[in-house]
Amino acid sequence: KKRNPNETEFHQAVEEILHSLTNVFELNPSYIDHAILERLVEPERIISFRVPWVDDAGKVQVNRGFRVQFNSSIGPYKGGLRFHPSVNASIIKFLGFEQIFKNSLTGQPIGGGKGGADFDPKGKSDNEIMRFCQSFMSELAKHIGPDTDVPAGDIGVGGREIGYLFGQYKKMRGGYQAGVLTGKGIDFGGSLVRTEATGYGAVYFVQEMLADKGDSLQGKTVVVSGSGNVSIYAIEKAVELGAKVVACSDSNGYIYDKEGIKLETVKRLKEVERKRIKEYINEHPNAKFFENGTEIWSIPCDIALPCATQNELDESAAKQLVENGVKAVAEGANMPSTLKAIEVFLSHGILFGPAKAANAGGVAVSALEMAQNSSRIPWKFEEVDKKLQDIMKNIYKNCIEAADQYGKSGNLVVGANIAGFLKVADAMIAQGVI
Ligand code: NDP
Repeated sequence: KKRNPNETEFHQAVEEILHSLTNVFELNPSYIDHAILERLVEPERIISFRVPWVDDAGKVQVNRGFRVQFNSSIGPYKGGLRFHPSVNASIIKFLGFEQIFKNSLTGQPIGGGKGGADFDPKGKSDNEIMRFCQSFMSELAKHIGPDTDVPAGDIGVGGREIGYLFGQYKKMRGGYQAGVLTGKGIDFGGSLVRTEATGYGAVYFVQEMLADKGDSLQGKTVVVSGSGNVSIYAIEKAVELGAKVVACSDSNGYIYDKEGIKLETVKRLKEVERKRIKEYINEHPNAKFFENGTEIWSIPCDIALPCATQNELDESAAKQLVENGVKAVAEGANMPSTLKAIEVFLSHGILFGPAKAANAGGVAVSALEMAQNSSRIPWKFEEVDKKLQDIMKNIYKNCIEAADQYGKSGNLVVGANIAGFLKVADAMIAQGVI
């Protein structure tokens, strides 16, 4: 904390890992001898840069861009780019740090990284978005490449932004290198299922948690926060598996539709028209809109899927969910539950899927996109979806086994942290003090 003052989100992410690893260090003192923790919390490299661009009124605007290349012991840095006004070094570092363990958990050869800018895409024209992406990539291109660092999307960065970023990279490098970004359009190197992967993966993870208790999603009531990429495809898969999703949100508030959210409306409003979730009630007058988004967790449900942003679910929301009889919680977003909220879930025996495990489906399919780009052979939807399901099953199994092995049976937070950590730590030791 002394070295990184004011980086509260980063401290929170590190604290969660440290709690989980106590037993690992006691049983394996060589990790202490090799200063694995001290090395892990220090990024290999952080790049911070100016992003100047011209808005539609002809005015020069300046934002700050970041890329943190956190750990490359098991593969090229891999992690998304976030465009949101709240972006700062702490947010990018917490995301990059978590990405190390998540990527390790997928079982694929990918290291941890993350990036973004404090740019607000809301209300910007297509041309402004394009100019911003071009300026951002003019600097970022110097630091990334298909074998070194492969960014993707995150909050505020979807297919449109990846397209503009890819175009600029290609222009600067004077050639087509598909594997430098993932989440690309299907016509120029993208993978089928990448758009759906994080949301689908989170629900596959819930399916595993429930199946272990002899239960399923059939007939369950679900609440999903957010209405972006992760939320939309979590809703889609949950409904496909027999659940009813009654609420979702955006940063202005949440909608409650007790008959079940009509996903086609949400998709059109969010993916095509880029409007606010509030507009949903104009088309479905039986639904209700509430302005305080965090109160979404007061709606009684069997399964809660926080899929918007960090720290959106606090201790009191967790208590309310437990009181209302929630059975399972899985984190589609990164670090959406506070440390206290997690404690509430675990101490009440609620099935809890932490972000590193539950939302790893997105980066896993990104790694499959890299594989398709390298082999120059695209795979069918069903093929990628099957691989995603297998990966999520494996992640669940590995988390359960790691938790068992280190005396914390059923605790998937500890399981995910340990399983993700071991592979990275062993690779770091094998590669010497670097
Ligand atoms: P999107 O930009 O597509 O959607 C984000 C959603 O969350 C929007 O509905 C947005 O509302 C809401 N939201 C964002 N910030 C806030 C905030 N500060 N307060 C309230 N609501 C907010 O992003 P994604 O769906 O891609 O990402 C969502 C989460 O999932 C993030 O935590 C991300 O890191 C994580 N994630 C994403 C992956 C991916 O593949 N995309 C992979 C793994 C994790 P509004 O439009 O009003 O801002």
